Amino acid sequence: MALAYVGLGSNLEDPLAQVTDAFVELAELPLTSLLARSSLYSSRAVGPEQPDYINAVALLDTQLAPLALLDALQAIEQAHQRVRIQHWGPRTLDLDLLLYSDQIIEEERLTVPHPYLTQRSFVLYPLADITPNLQLPDGTPLTDLLSRCPADGLLRLPSPA
Ligand code: ATP
Ligand code: MG
Ligand code: MG
Repeated sequence: MALAYVGLGSNLEDPLAQVTDAFVELAELPLTSLLARSSLYSSRAVGPEQPDYINAVALLDTQLAPLALLDALQAIEQAHQRVRIQHWGPRTLDLDLLLYSDQIIEEERLTVPHPYLTQRSFVLYPLADITPNLQLPDGTPLTDLLSRCPADGLLRLPSPA
């Protein structure tokens, strides 16, 4: 069993619904349960000019191996009809494996911790919602990363009633 943090992002075709539905689909993955979900955030897009994003993070308890989990995440992306047109371009749904327990993975298809995790406010703030005292596999406290990462344009959305 492993604790996996998954970053969710969407900026096309009703992003709030895309992310909300993705939480349900993550909860339905085999050998997996959804332990926690962060608040939803709105963030300005990185890369080419495009609409703002909705972002969030999910915490999963899973018996899927890392690459099996990546396959499952990509299947959910496909189900949301994600089309990769442009690197860092707009998308209906992006699911990134941020952390997989304290494992360090460097494979062709999978790098964990996610390579940009430490620089992205739209990942760090939602992670802190779920596990404020989180440490990366190398021992770096999340609070250190947060103190170095400007929240530029990140907005926590009010939770639904
Ligand atoms: P970024 O990595 O900057 O967030 P992105 O999420 O837009 O960019 P994608 O197009 O979703 O990038 O993925 C490109 C490739 O990244 C995928 O084919 C996947 O195999 C690979 N990849 C490597 N590490 C990871 C990871 N930790 N989570 C998800 N995909 C990963
Ligand atoms: Mg991504
Ligand atoms: Mg991705």
